[in-house]
Amino acid sequence: MAVIINDTCITCDACLQQCPVNAIVDDFANPIGKKQYYVQPEKCVECVGIYDDPQCAAICPSIGCITWDMPFIASFDEHFRNETIYKLGVSKEGTLKSPIYKEKSYREDIALCDRGVGKLVQEEPDALQEVG
Ligand code: SF4
Ligand code: SF4
Repeated sequence: MAVIINDTCITCDACLQQCPVNAIVDDFANPIGKKQYYVQPEKCVECVGIYDDPQCAAICPSIGCITWDMPFIASFDEHFRNETIYKLGVSKEGTLKSPIYKEKSYREDIALCDRGVGKLVQEEPDALQEVG
């Protein structure tokens, strides 16, 4: 990963078809049981090499719903093993698909300090910013 969808998701379905690597599942398939869409961090590549920006966030109508998470790399293995936030897939051999199993591409231009809870992928539209 990664980007993460939070509880402001309105289950509109817009992001699902937009993901080039089929990393997103709907609220019925959410592996942690929440009624919101879910990004599988072991599949998300932050749209690197495919689009200029994460396409899920570009199309999401709920501003603030999709935020940056940490890169899906070995140094964040423990982070992605947090079962209250994620439920990672398991390989045919029974190995948890955590970053140590396989790292994913991520946007190196997004600093670690700009990732985490509340760090929006989308920009606030100008129209919503306070003026005067
Ligand atoms: S950032 Fe790109 S690859 Fe990751 S879930 Fe969103 S659309 Fe899919
Ligand atoms: S586009 Fe946004 S609000 Fe719609 S399902 Fe995806 S994450 Fe939820």
